[in-house]
Amino acid sequence: MLKQRPFLIETLTAVGLIVAPFVLPHLGFAPNTVNRILVWGLFGLGFDILFGFTGLLSFGQSAFYGTGGFVAAYLLTRAGFSNVLGALVIGMIAAAATGYLIGLIALRRTGIYFAMITVAIAEVFFFVEFNPLSDFTGGENGLPGVPTPSFDLGFTSIHFTNGWSLYQFIALCYFVGVIIALRIVRSPVGAILSAIRDNPLRATAVGHNIHGYKLTAFVIAAAYAGFAGGLLGVLQAFMPPDAFTFDTSGQLVMQTAIGGRGTLFGPLVGATVWLFLQDFLQSALGLGAAWKLVLGVVFVLLVCFLRGGIIGGLVDLYGFISGKRARKAAETEEIDVETPQAPPAPMQAKEVAHPAYSGPILKATGLTKRYGGLVANSDIDFSVDQGELRGIIGPNGAGKSTFFKMLTCEVAPTSGQIMFEGRNITGLKVTEVCQLGLTKSYQVNQLFTGLTVRQNLTIAALAELRGKFRLDLFRSLAGVKGLTEQVEHTLALVNLTRRADTPVSELAYGEKRRLEIGLALATSPRLLLLDEPLAGMSPRERVETVKLLKSIARGRTMIIIDHDMDSLFELVERVTVLQEGRVLVSGTPEEIKTNAAVQEAYLGGVHGEIAA
Ligand code: ADP
Repeated sequence: MLKQRPFLIETLTAVGLIVAPFVLPHLGFAPNTVNRILVWGLFGLGFDILFGFTGLLSFGQSAFYGTGGFVAAYLLTRAGFSNVLGALVIGMIAAAATGYLIGLIALRRTGIYFAMITVAIAEVFFFVEFNPLSDFTGGENGLPGVPTPSFDLGFTSIHFTNGWSLYQFIALCYFVGVIIALRIVRSPVGAILSAIRDNPLRATAVGHNIHGYKLTAFVIAAAYAGFAGGLLGVLQAFMPPDAFTFDTSGQLVMQTAIGGRGTLFGPLVGATVWLFLQDFLQSALGLGAAWKLVLGVVFVLLVCFLRGGIIGGLVDLYGFISGKRARKAAETEEIDVETPQAPPAPMQAKEVAHPAYSGPILKATGLTKRYGGLVANSDIDFSVDQGELRGIIGPNGAGKSTFFKMLTCEVAPTSGQIMFEGRNITGLKVTEVCQLGLTKSYQVNQLFTGLTVRQNLTIAALAELRGKFRLDLFRSLAGVKGLTEQVEHTLALVNLTRRADTPVSELAYGEKRRLEIGLALATSPRLLLLDEPLAGMSPRERVETVKLLKSIARGRTMIIIDHDMDSLFELVERVTVLQEGRVLVSGTPEEIKTNAAVQEAYLGGVHGEIAA
């Protein structure tokens, strides 16, 4: 829904905000309720970037909401500061700085542990606000007397007092918040945040510093929370102590889930449902505190039946209707959409720049990996020349995957050294090694499953074009030089041009395997490792993929593990055989086929025989 015509969402938001005061009163919304919805919506814009786009569920947003709110309210009520907008911005900066420090700690863990840390942090902030800092925060009394904004324009002054007058100020803040959030999610950083949500392991492996990007999302969410917290004080002319409570964080999570995560407007929609139900059930139906029971039922029903929330449900409905329409149109025009056309001829591999270094591109010496008492790799010496195509074979459990993991620095060797283009890469991180030009395609697909084929390749290409971390939050993807060319080039290389805008979940298995290789290729590696690229393919898919690998191989150095020896021997120039974690023998495919030791290894191994 965020990839519509340029400025469509911005325009619709502006129109919605302008007409709201004329329409909503007729639906029973009081101006104060609408203002509160907008404050929650603004709070939620940042939270959705963190939760919906990056996949980080924080229950600690009240810490930043309270921090921004109390800093702004303190400046305006106790420190003699009279510029309301200035105080809100200072509150926002204080919340962002706090978010940075908290993020450094909380992001050391993932999943449930990250969520638990954020809960603990919110509790600590709540305690601190009530006890050591009560002189500044007013403790349980909060800070009364927060003024509303007014602007002196010289010839006249504007006062935003309350009700629909204050709405204009809050609506403007919300609109600016939407513009900024849209820019962020459409930027290269936004694309990488979605990749982190879908598959952090692969986002790291294609060369992104995901810790830096997660911290960025955390700080953005804290900044939005801080500004919204300040607005709450302005709206109520009072900064309430409950801004810091866990309830605030929980309500934000629930509102986002109700409205739809990953949509930016989900929290606004969720807050609308929440506050409308609260007003309607509590006051109109006189349910009192029991209104939360009804809310609970609504929440459970929505989460069970509309997993993408209200907006997600509407988007699905739209997709269903427009898909039906498209199918109907296709039938009328008698276009056979089911018949796949012949894939375009693979392009010549892109010229990859080689540095001045002329020795072996990869040299491993004495490489050993122990898992407790088990020796997965033992004292392996291995060298690959520039432009060489090397195959690695060996029975299951011979240590091939472990060897690849060490070469790409996914796991650290117990001992030994790895030199890439004459540089010692032992102990580096997988992201750094990928940035240097060494990467691999995985034995089990590691794709960004929530994205399309093109978006997948974009993520990988961005790592090469922008480096491992860059804060180009306001740049559009189209503004990244060379990105479109690189993505199109890779699409053609792996024969997926026709499937570019297909979601990964709709690809056939063979196409997924090709995309897996494409993700590695899009980083323009000088050394490409392929871990069982033919695994799980039908015989026809194998033949096509071998053809594809041959075309990719031109001008590249590749090491390929595979069990399909017919295909592998057809592809590579030299083969290294591993057995029980050691190098058994290296030689040309012909030498390997006739080697007695290799025959013996396979007769004793899983395969029983070696293909001749
Ligand atoms: P291959 O790829 O040749 O099938 P692997 O490298 O996957 O072999 O495994 C080699 C040996 O190392 C196996 O005995 C396997 O059980 C063991 N191994 C691999 N990874 C781990 C791990 N993370 N922890 C413990 N043992 C492991």
